[in-house]
Amino acid sequence: MELYKENQLKVYNSLSKKKENFKSITEGYVGMYVCGPTVYSNAHLGNVRTFMFFDVVYRYLMHLGYKVRYVRNITDAGHLENDAEEGEDKIAKKARLEQIEPMEVVQRYTLDFHDVLKNYNFLPPSIEPTATGHIVEQIEMIKEIIEKGFAYEVNGSVYFDVLEYNKKENYGILSGRKVEDLLNNTRNLDGQSDKKNPQDFALWKRADERHIMRWPSPWSDGFPGWHLECSVMSTKYLGESFDIHGGGMDLKFPHHECEIAQSKICSGVTPVNYWMHTNMLSLNGQRMAKSSGNFILPNEILTGENSLLPKAFSASVVRFFNMQANYRSILDFSGEALEASEKGHSKLMEALSFLDKIVSSEISTFDVQKWKKDCYSAMNDDFNTPILISHLFEAVKTINLLKEQKASLTVSDLKELKTTLEAFVFDVLGLINENSQDNSGKINGVVELLIKLRKEARENKNWALSDQIRDELIALGIQLKDGKEGTTYLIN
Ligand code: AMP
Ligand code: ZN
Repeated sequence: MELYKENQLKVYNSLSKKKENFKSITEGYVGMYVCGPTVYSNAHLGNVRTFMFFDVVYRYLMHLGYKVRYVRNITDAGHLENDAEEGEDKIAKKARLEQIEPMEVVQRYTLDFHDVLKNYNFLPPSIEPTATGHIVEQIEMIKEIIEKGFAYEVNGSVYFDVLEYNKKENYGILSGRKVEDLLNNTRNLDGQSDKKNPQDFALWKRADERHIMRWPSPWSDGFPGWHLECSVMSTKYLGESFDIHGGGMDLKFPHHECEIAQSKICSGVTPVNYWMHTNMLSLNGQRMAKSSGNFILPNEILTGENSLLPKAFSASVVRFFNMQANYRSILDFSGEALEASEKGHSKLMEALSFLDKIVSSEISTFDVQKWKKDCYSAMNDDFNTPILISHLFEAVKTINLLKEQKASLTVSDLKELKTTLEAFVFDVLGLINENSQDNSGKINGVVELLIKLRKEARENKNWALSDQIRDELIALGIQLKDGKEGTTYLIN
């Protein structure tokens, strides 16, 4: 029997603001859409937190036996600079500043994003569609919204008529915002907007002569509004109604509110059954964000090349750090917090490495069945990874007692403990036991030792030895980099 049949998953639905029993539209299948990155710069660790959580959701749903179609898009057009729906497309702006093609910007940061995902052991989504690959469908959706009387054209741009929509539906259903309040709070940039009302949002923008990212449409040569792509791609690949839609909390408004409005007008049905939103990763008490410059890059953690870090950390430690917090709580990043996670992570991995050496007994002193049930209950309770981890550490404690022969397990309990522990650690949380797989922990230690010896050689003006260490490491594919903060290294 599939595990999902005996595990009633509960999901906190941002729409109802309650934990609800999860029931998929089609039994045994789940459709999940997560808003992907805007590829105008490197994804930061905050973005990674959100995507990593949904990676674990994806992994757990599959572990439960669901067939999941997971769609995560790439926003490569149409994401304007500010919430007033004016200003430049972020990608076009970057291209102009760097004097390269917008598609070069898109390619560079899409590759970087994929590199990060690979380094951090993400499973690829089932489909990764791009906004620019769906311009035709976006134009069709705009036509439909105009035909239905909920959008209007001004000077080659098309806007969604929020007031008209709000007469029949509730604009604010997800975010709790009220249209009247929005009227007072929405900035109208020096009256330059073409909108009838400031709450209206762009479905299509006419491109000015400087704007290179443009497509022909019935209204103008222009580009789609940011919110449209997700309505179009989720409907195309998951249907008019699908199970889960995810993203960071900052996307609730306006992005997801607008998605609901657009989709509802076209299909007449509620597009998403469960809305899931992750809370923010912060740095120095402030939300990690590209725009404020308050961020750390995921690949910097792997090399230790950031002054906020005492040293390099493995991707699995960063995963563990993320999973130690509930996804609906703010998580503050710091080097010290990562060091603490590293200790916990090593204890867990050491226990796992020891499992094969344990000899079974006639009796069990640890209730494996209850423990296993507790692990599932934690994940079934809205993917509560910190509680799951606390249960995993009950197993670690038992393994350590087994090591000292202060506990015992029967053959079948030992097997069950091992299978369950490995399933949660590797398949569900996506952690990696670096020690058992490639000795990278030891390699890092040896390189650190050589860096120290080279430093001593240089202090003693023994240039021949210091050069020899550097050159022989290069020959092995390990490159030393001397900087203000000391010497770091890259292993190719
Ligand atoms: P963006 O590329 O800005 O569209 O963001 C990609 C995803 O990362 C979105 O789901 C955002 O909500 C999410 N995100 C952005 N900043 C943070 C943060 N500091 N912590 C967690 N998630 C974030
Ligand atoms: Zn989206």
